[in-house]
Formats: sequence, C-alpha cells, structure tokens
Amino acid sequence: MSALTRRSALALGGAVALVPVVGRAQAPGLLIAGGPIHTGRAGERVEAVATRGDKIVFAGSLAGARHAAPGARKIDLAGAAAYPGFVDSHAHLREIGLREMTLNLEGTASIAELQTRLRAAATAGPAGPIFGRGWIETHWPEQRFPTRQDLDAVVADRPVYLMRADGHAGVANSAALAMAGVTASTRPPAGGDIPHDAKGEPTGMLVDNAKALVEDRMPKPGRAMIREAMVRADRLYRSRGWTGVHSMSVSQDDMDALRSLAGGGDWGLRVDNYVDIDSAEEVLRTGPSVDASGKIRLRGIKLYADGALGSRGAALLAPYNDKPGWMGLLLTPPEKVVEWMAKAKAAGSQVAIHAIGDRGNRIALDSMAKVLGAAHTDRRWRIEHAQILSPADLPRFAAMGVTASMQPSHAIGDLYFAPARLGVERLRGAYAWRSLIKSGAVVCGGTDAPVEKGDPLIEFYAAVYRHALNGFAGPEWGLDQTVSRGQALAMFTTSAAYAIGRERELGALAVGRRADLTAFSRDLMTAAPADIPGAKATLTVIAGEVVHGG
Ligand SMILES: [Zn+2]
Repeated sequence: MSALTRRSALALGGAVALVPVVGRAQAPGLLIAGGPIHTGRAGERVEAVATRGDKIVFAGSLAGARHAAPGARKIDLAGAAAYPGFVDSHAHLREIGLREMTLNLEGTASIAELQTRLRAAATAGPAGPIFGRGWIETHWPEQRFPTRQDLDAVVADRPVYLMRADGHAGVANSAALAMAGVTASTRPPAGGDIPHDAKGEPTGMLVDNAKALVEDRMPKPGRAMIREAMVRADRLYRSRGWTGVHSMSVSQDDMDALRSLAGGGDWGLRVDNYVDIDSAEEVLRTGPSVDASGKIRLRGIKLYADGALGSRGAALLAPYNDKPGWMGLLLTPPEKVVEWMAKAKAAGSQVAIHAIGDRGNRIALDSMAKVLGAAHTDRRWRIEHAQILSPADLPRFAAMGVTASMQPSHAIGDLYFAPARLGVERLRGAYAWRSLIKSGAVVCGGTDAPVEKGDPLIEFYAAVYRHALNGFAGPEWGLDQTVSRGQALAMFTTSAAYAIGRERELGALAVGRRADLTAFSRDLMTAAPADIPGAKATLTVIAGEVVHGG
C-alpha cells in the first residue's frame, strides 16, 4: 500500500467496511428542487435534496432543505426528475473513448454501407492499418457476415480489421490475414474459430481467441491515446447522466491513465476497475485499492468463461439450433478459471467472469463453488451477462451470493436472432432478469458499451418494456421477464452499489450518502415506455459537484 492507495470496502475476508475517503477541497453545498426526486428507497419521493461537500445532508421538504443548507447553490430541476446517480455496472471505458477516435461502424445498415464507410476512412484517415468497430449484421439485407473479399474490394493494399459490435468477432481483409500469417491451413487456437468458405479458404472472420492472430499485430493505442480516450469517455458518460462505471477488461495502462487523470483533478466519474488477467499482478499482490481522489478503484479480476451468442461463441450445454453439432467456445480452460479464482480469493480480490451460454454460466458457478464453497458468501463475486441459464442453475446465484451483472439492451438486440440460435425451450432462461430478482439474486444493470450505445435511458426502457427501440417485440421475446420501474431503478443504483460493496455509501439519496445524483427530462417512474429513450440527461452531480447541466 502506498500513500495513494489504500484498502477499500471489500476487505480480505469479504466483509464490507466503510473507508473514509480523502476528497478534494469541499464542494460548495447544493440545494436541488423543482421536480420529482426519487430517493431510491422503497418508492420514496421528496421535494428537495441538499448536499455539503461530497455528502447528502438532507432529503425531504423544500423548507427543510433550506434550513439544512443555508447559502447552498440552488439548482432548479425545472420539472426534470431526479434519482440517485445512475451507474453503468458493465462497460469498457477505454473502448468507449476509442470508439469516438477510430472508425465507428455503429448503425451500419448493410455490407454496402460498411464498404462506403471504410472507403471514406481510407481516404480521409492516416496511412497504415485501419481499425474499425461497431458493425452488427443482424438487420443487414445481405443476411450474412462480411468477408475479406468485401473489404478487399475497397482496401487491398493495407491491413483492415473491423471488429463486430460485441467485440467477440472481427473481419480482416486479405492483407491483414497475410500480415498475421493466417492461411487455409491455419488451425484456430483453443477457444477460437477461423470460419472457412466453400473453397476451404478463410472467410476473413475471426471469432473469440482467433481474433488475437490479427489484433496482436495491429498498432496498439499508446499512452497518450489511452489518456485521450479516457477523457472523452468521462465527458460523454457524464453528459448521459452516468455518475459511475464498473469498467471491465481493464489494463495496467488504463489504470495508470485513470489514476493520473483523477490525480490531476479534472475527472468526473467514479470508476471501479476489473482488470484482465495479464494486468492482474497488482490486484493479486495488494488486493483492492482506491486512489487519493476516492474515485478510481481497483476491484478485482475479469475472466472469460465463453464467447458471445451472435458469433456463436457462447458455450451451450446442447448444440446450437442453427449450427448442428456446434456447442460454442470456452475462452479459458475451466481448470484455469479455478486457478485464477483461487488467486483472487487469496488476495481478497473480487472476481467478475464473463459467461453468456448456459454451459459458460454453469462453469462459472461450478468454479466459484469449487473455490468458495456452494454456501452463500459475501465476497460479491459476479457473473457478467448471465445471459442464458439452465433452470437448474438460476437459483444458484441467490444461494451462493453471486451477483448477476446484466445488460437489458442485449435482450432487445439479441432477441432478433436468439430464437434461431437457441430454440424456444432454452429462451425461458435467457435474459431472465425477473426470474433472477424473484429468486433473491442481486441483478445490477449495465450497458456493455461500446458493444451497446451506453445510454441509461435505453437500458431502463429495455428493462421495463423489452421491446426493440422501434417498438417491435417478437412472440418469443419473453415479455414476462420485464422488471418493474422500481426494480429497474435499483439495477442502476442500489444494486450497482451492492455489486461493489458500497451499498451503505452509494445508490440512494439519503443523509450521509455520497452526493451522486442524475436527473432526466422525463420521469422514468411514470413515463410511457416509448417516451423514455427520447428523454435527456439534464443534470449530473458526482461527489457534490455538478459535472453536467445544472
Ligand atoms: Zn463487456
């Protein structure tokens, strides 16, 4: 432990303790009123909230707030509705920033448009390899994955690599495959796939662990670029109403950038970090820690059980309905998962493990049971996505005290193709938010940005309505798995706080809590579902400081 880093809430034994945080100079007090204020406590609504420094000192009547915070700066909500600060419980902060800085393929509507955007980037951008991200073929008229030939037709003279939105697959042009030495005879690494065409040649698609063949040879963002990406992500996220992020798959370079930025003062978000295993040295040596600003926390390690459903990398207990004999990919051998978990346990570190398929989730739960025992523990270990669950495994989350970290927007994107991949029977345990909550499990909500947009309003809408943004829902979409408004609010506030062991400090607008608050132009507790995504974040307060709007 250095002077800058101290043990945080999740102590070695897993018990939760509050740790005082050395903040910056006390923020002046705020008096927030002028719209409905939902405190996040059992449906409670108050007239006003007052803050002093980074704490809430009053929540109740306007007169009471005036009395409690004389001289405070008044902030008029002007009819907007306020909530405890919204927290994205699963996002990739650096990648959110990088998406804004590289070829952004979000919303690409066809292979033809993918080619148009690539052509524009090749003409306008710098020389050298081209990296892009964000395409998803689900709605394309061509109804297929892009191929290397599609890319070669636009750029043939230098490497091009375009990652699918989910980050679990990418397409490379022939120059990128040649750079990586990938030929018709290249065997995919364990946990990866290199699909071939009818002639036995690689199509250009690289799935899960096979992506590294090309990705490892593409230029890596340097320190300055990572720093800029973090700054952009921080600004973007504050403007959308987020007050905190549980950042996943974090590198040591990311941690260095975050600590330096927060140390410099011009930083907004609370960031709780889960590092990749190749950057796990520090957290496995010293355990969880918090920086001097109190905003940047090292929490634990991020593991991967399997891949993603869209690219058929999710590990299933029985074959895919639309690919006979194929059961998905295990990204980490199960014995290695247990080994890393045992190290994390010894260090008092949290574990966050990506698991999408029912086999991936079973392996994640079995591994935790091997390391922690099958009885309930308070270590707050978490399964990221928990997307497709066998009915036998669903009650294990509550029984073992494992948090289900889920992203409502995945359902309204994936349910277009999930029935084809899984068949009707397995859909019952898919994106089963309501069943998990009913079973007593804690479900925290996230976006997985940049896989999804990273918008709290889209997530809230998806959680309570489970229709696509265009209003569509298919007969197999499992509308009985929608959650109540109160449950949706909890996913992004109280449950997000619980997931990082800070449920007594964050997640509610109550006296003594940290002063984190979000206001949206519409009241999410009463608005018609269709009106939710179009609302605006009008005010974001973090640690008593107005960081957006106001
Ligand atoms: Zn993710």
